[in-house]
Amino acid sequence: MTENQSAQPPSGPAAIAGQTVFITGASAGIGAACAHAFARAGARLLLAARRQDKLRDLAAALQKEGSPAVHTITLDVRDAAQVSATLGALPEAWRAIDVLINNAGLSRGLDKLQEGKPEDWDEMIDTNVKGLLYVTRAVVPGMIERGRGHIVNLGSTAGHMTYPKGAVYCATKAAEKSISEGLRQDVLGTPVRVTSIDPGMVQTDFSKVRFRGDEERAAKVYQGVTPLQPEDIADAILWAVTRPAHVNISEMLITSIDQANSLLFNR
Ligand code: NAP
Repeated sequence: MTENQSAQPPSGPAAIAGQTVFITGASAGIGAACAHAFARAGARLLLAARRQDKLRDLAAALQKEGSPAVHTITLDVRDAAQVSATLGALPEAWRAIDVLINNAGLSRGLDKLQEGKPEDWDEMIDTNVKGLLYVTRAVVPGMIERGRGHIVNLGSTAGHMTYPKGAVYCATKAAEKSISEGLRQDVLGTPVRVTSIDPGMVQTDFSKVRFRGDEERAAKVYQGVTPLQPEDIADAILWAVTRPAHVNISEMLITSIDQANSLLFNR
């Protein structure tokens, strides 16, 4: 081994053991799957969502799966004051965040723009765009100060190609793409890495939330296709954050075998 190689921090799944990983929207779907994957890899987990009961149940399971420590916080990412107060008041042991997974997000409604509901637009923009910004703003300065850190933002195929009746959700994910690109440029020269993970259709509560609890309509979204599972995305995120420190995975566009892009499915 050369001197240079021995100076490299460890990479591969073992590299995440003992590191502090902060996941927003950890109470369900992709966020919860990430929590399980990182627990098995030995990471310390800081978990945020609005539904604290879900996080409490999850925390108990994660410690059994191998996480050395789990801390849960109630957080509505849309509330700028709450984000800054809660993250500013983290217990000492949870302040040094190594990895932030900006996963909290949602869609509301599937309507033509000219028939859409402004309250749905507000909720999507406030959560997927402004929430991501508030959390990032609170966490990145500490990463720069400590000289280490990785931001993983959840984008979507929707941010690459807009689909009918989804203009505003797609716009929030196009914004995520721009914000990830911008942040990557703004932290250039520091060791902080920025990755956008852009999944196609993943089978989670996403459609149930979009259709406000209409399970039948939500189930139809996944009928006749093999969708991605949240574990597939967690696996990709774990891989992206465990590359050697000089490797930045900028963007991963991931679909199931039955999806070509935002519009084309094999049903
Ligand atoms: P999900 O199962 O509905 O989970 C969404 C998570 O976000 C929940 O834990 C929810 O927690 C949290 N959340 C929503 N609003 C929040 C808020 N205001 N403050 C804090 N947490 C909030 O959906 P998912 O599919 O896992 O979605 C996760 C991310 O992946 C989203 O950004 C989504 O846009 C993206 N994505 C999903 C798909 C897909 O097909 N499923 C595809 C591409 C991208 P609480 O309700 O407990 O707060």
